[in-house]
Amino acid sequence: MSVSDTLSDDDRLILEAVEKWLERDVRPNVLALDHADEYPEEMVEQMKELGLFGATIPEEYGGLGLSAETYARIVEKIAETWMSLSGIFNSHLIMAACVARMGTEEQKRAYLPRFATGELRGGLALTEPDAGTDLQGIRTRARREGDGYVIDGTKTWITNGIYGQCFALLVKTNPDAEPRHKGMSMFIAEKGPGFSVSKRLEKLGYKGIDSAELSFDGYRVGADKLIGGVEGKGLQAALSGLELGRINVAARGCGLASAALKDSVKYAQIRSTFGKPIGQHQAIQLKLGEMATRCRAASLLTYDAARAYDRGERCDMEAGMAKYFASEAAVANSLEAMRIHGGYGYSKELHVERYYRDAPLMCIGEGTNEMQRIIIAKQLMERHPA
Ligand SMILES: Cc1cc2nc3c(=O)[nH]c(=O)nc-3n(C[C@H](O)[C@H](O)[C@H](O)COP(=O)(O)OP(=O)(O)OC[C@H]3O[C@@H](n4cnc5c(N)ncnc54)[C@H](O)[C@@H]3O)c2cc1C
Repeated sequence: MSVSDTLSDDDRLILEAVEKWLERDVRPNVLALDHADEYPEEMVEQMKELGLFGATIPEEYGGLGLSAETYARIVEKIAETWMSLSGIFNSHLIMAACVARMGTEEQKRAYLPRFATGELRGGLALTEPDAGTDLQGIRTRARREGDGYVIDGTKTWITNGIYGQCFALLVKTNPDAEPRHKGMSMFIAEKGPGFSVSKRLEKLGYKGIDSAELSFDGYRVGADKLIGGVEGKGLQAALSGLELGRINVAARGCGLASAALKDSVKYAQIRSTFGKPIGQHQAIQLKLGEMATRCRAASLLTYDAARAYDRGERCDMEAGMAKYFASEAAVANSLEAMRIHGGYGYSKELHVERYYRDAPLMCIGEGTNEMQRIIIAKQLMERHPA
């Protein structure tokens, strides 16, 4: 499906501006920044100018108000060039989605315009050392004290944890509540006394972007920072951001799968063995055929989920299918690209080894692929009762 099939002229212009930026300012610098695991500060400034930190924030709050489909196509393009960059604004936008969908009008007016410009950047702080998939098992605790709350606990694997200043923070306001989610709340937490970065986390891939452990030790926050203004809605706020989050991870998978395919198609025509380009050997053709089919299917599933989101429909099944399929496509294509490139695929001189290091994260983040299949199955039975 070509871009022009469904996008408006304005959306196409934004996508073209992003593509130009990727070719001019990002592609030539990816290898060096990725290998040095260096935070791309200059690119973050350029992302601000492009409006990416406000991509899905409604226009009335200063954002671009893009549809999920246009957003997915932008993420796909960025991930095709350097997946790490997408994390810098995607996690930020999931935080913004929690405020936009669940926040009070006052919270939206206070935060969304500053999120949109990138003046205030951050992410989503859900995971803890002892709770990831089982979010209802978190232990970070917010106790009511005077006109605010005091928060204690630890969050881990938090994207943008070091360079970000503000996080949508999931806590327990009532650890004894049954069902457990009724005791969960979400706060807008800006860095300050009692809120510190306790560890920078080293990773296999996803280099250049900061992942950190965050500690809360007597961190005080006003009651006006409780998202939605009432306790007990925290899990709902987290889940409301995760639908868009899964579409974004699916789009990242599409981008990586496509990068692996494009590099392989090129290489298959320039590398020769036994007197002909390797692309003339059927063993390589079979790989390319499978890789291209995975790319196409992954993109179609992703756009389909994004359109359902844009129509305001419940789309956890569609987003789950897209996230599951596209991330597995990225893993499979990056390994096939490495095989097609032979020894060069294992070399740091090319991008292929990076795809291989980056792709597995997409199977874990925003809900593991095991959980996605369980969500799909449950939704199937709910939608088709016997
Ligand atoms: C680079 C990186 C960036 C991240 N960024 C963020 C971030 O910005 N914010 C944030 O909050 N988190 C972030 N995470 C955390 C991520 O969301 C979690 O790692 C993920 O949700 C899985 O949780 P876990 O690691 O605790 O695994 P666990 O929940 O311990 O799961 C371990 C295994 O058990 C399986 N499993 C668990 N329960 C079930 C079940 N009921 N049925 C079947 N299988 C099950 C899982 O699928 C998995 O295979 C990030 C992680 C990484 C690696």
